Amino acid sequence: MKVLTIFKRIYNFITFTEIPIWQKLLIFAAAGIGWFIIIAAIGLIAMTSVNNSSRELTENIVPQIQTGQKVIIMIRGANVSISNIVIHDNVDVVNGNAQRARSLIDKAATALTALLEGGTITDYSDLTGELIDKVNVQSVRGDQVASKYIQDALKQSRHLREIHNSLVSMKLALLESGQEKVALMEKLGEYDAAAIKFVTILGRFTSHISTMQKTYTEKIQAVLYESMSLVIIIGLIAVVLLTLFSIFLKTSITRPLNAITEQIKGLSEGEVDLTKQITVGSKDEIAELSSSFNNLILTINDMSNFKKVIEEDDSLEDVYNRLAKVFFENLGLDDVTIYEVSTMNKSMDLINSPYSREDVSCNREILMDSNLCRARKTGHTVSSIAYPEICKQFLLAPEKYHTCVPIIVGGSIGGVVQMQFDKTRDSVRQIDIPLLNPSCIERQIMRAEQYIKESSAVIEAKRLTGALKESSVRDQMTGLYNRRFLEEYVETLIASVMRKGSRLGLLMCDLDYFKQVNDKFGHDVGDAVLKETSSVIAKSARAADLVIRFGGEEFLVIVNDAKEGDAMEVAERIRRKTEETKVKTASGIIQKTISVGFSEFPTDTQNFWEAVKYADIALYKAKEGGRNKVMKFEKEMWTKDAY
Ligand code: GH3
Ligand code: MG
Ligand code: MG
Repeated sequence: MKVLTIFKRIYNFITFTEIPIWQKLLIFAAAGIGWFIIIAAIGLIAMTSVNNSSRELTENIVPQIQTGQKVIIMIRGANVSISNIVIHDNVDVVNGNAQRARSLIDKAATALTALLEGGTITDYSDLTGELIDKVNVQSVRGDQVASKYIQDALKQSRHLREIHNSLVSMKLALLESGQEKVALMEKLGEYDAAAIKFVTILGRFTSHISTMQKTYTEKIQAVLYESMSLVIIIGLIAVVLLTLFSIFLKTSITRPLNAITEQIKGLSEGEVDLTKQITVGSKDEIAELSSSFNNLILTINDMSNFKKVIEEDDSLEDVYNRLAKVFFENLGLDDVTIYEVSTMNKSMDLINSPYSREDVSCNREILMDSNLCRARKTGHTVSSIAYPEICKQFLLAPEKYHTCVPIIVGGSIGGVVQMQFDKTRDSVRQIDIPLLNPSCIERQIMRAEQYIKESSAVIEAKRLTGALKESSVRDQMTGLYNRRFLEEYVETLIASVMRKGSRLGLLMCDLDYFKQVNDKFGHDVGDAVLKETSSVIAKSARAADLVIRFGGEEFLVIVNDAKEGDAMEVAERIRRKTEETKVKTASGIIQKTISVGFSEFPTDTQNFWEAVKYADIALYKAKEGGRNKVMKFEKEMWTKDAY
């Protein structure tokens, strides 16, 4: 396992997996330059070596060989002169040759000295005296064998000189005396032997130096061969490695890019698996890009899922609930308040949800007058993170930051989402969702705003259908529920009563002699009286009770959870208040009375509509009994034949 990780580390290191792209390129360029420098260095070293060797050759070896050969030629020349001395009997010729031979031997000795000590050898023409050649020669002292040869040769040259001297004296003496030549010939033989020895020594010297030359030439060739091989091998390694890394580099950049491109293409064509994430092995800019892209896809996925779910939610409450849940679970926001602005745009209501705050951190007056809420008034996000104390209404939690985001519904503000953050904590709750770990509040707010934006259309649609539905179950004139509402609601109502085992009071109310109002003052005045009466009835009933305009001037009041005497109490209150009410109309003050008949469900009958009928019967009895009366239904009132 450990070996595997080490191996993986090395692999990642070699393939530049864990470094940013600019570093990858830098390393790649540096490697290219590095290889170039290595090859250039090898070339330079080889050239220097070859240069040194060839300089050695041209400056040392060649002049030494040349000098050696020149010396041989000089001695040969001297040999000829020596022979001439022996052959000729003319004193002048003898002297001339003697002179020449001496000069050649001396010159040879000078050249040998130059070879031994190093120096310049100049060669002048015997005839014209002009400079024929000038050679710089290095000392052979470094080479023991060569210097031994030269020392021997020098010794030999001195010997030759001695022989030459005695030979010349002998010849000149011979020319004067005319004696036998035997001794002279012996001297010549001695000279020849010495000359041969001299030439042999020099021959050995030149051949020794030539071996050196060969060594140098071989060295040059070896250096050239080695350096060329090295350059080729290193060049090949460089090409292979650079190609390999080019491929790594190319793949490490193009593969994730291709994956992203594919996803984007799929996204634009609408056929992409939003749950599929791009995996990138590297830790560079591309990995960052991929991770951002994955986040984006995740967000889109979340968003589209969220939108789908809330579209299918039944009620507005469910949508708000879902929104609060998403804030809590996906964004890690655990202190959220949702306010809903009423349709009349005046008040605001707190939305209750298990995921949101149930108390208000703002001045409670914003609930009565939503215009006090800055986010509601401006339609902009209001955040105390950017501007401390931005909103005067945020009074109750000074230890917290607040960010209030308006929910824009159909061009106006339908609600406000308030998020609160501890000032001491610089981050929101850490949640364990891969790639989604919130790192800063700002980002979470931005995401929250996206969710709010996504849900606003759904909220708008739900509010609209809610309003439509509301208008279809409300009576236009009085604002009370109509009969249709009762028909739709009755099942829920009965179920609730049965479940709780409670009782309903059904109060049927009918204005007395109402026709007269119409007849006397006209329909409009009748309407005004009706409106006033409905408001009197609504006020007389309790908050939990339902007031329904049942017919023209008939109202059904359903008293919820009616204890003994409750129904009678409400009915009596309605009767009394109606009687006391003075309706101001264009035709003066009108005062009417009302009759109420009531029954109880399910005590009078298990059938709801039958109970309504019973209330109606009781009402009829109240009318019969003189009007402005409250009558409770009694079994005796129910005689089938009568109705
Ligand atoms: P009582 O109930 O005491 O027996 O006498 P009444 O005169 O009230 O008789 P009834 O209940 O039969 O009369 C109902 C009248 O209410 C008939 C109709 O002209 C009138 N009415 C019904 N709906 C409206 C309405 O919306 N506006 C006006 N102005 N009058 C209405
Ligand atoms: Mg009436
Ligand atoms: Mg009536």
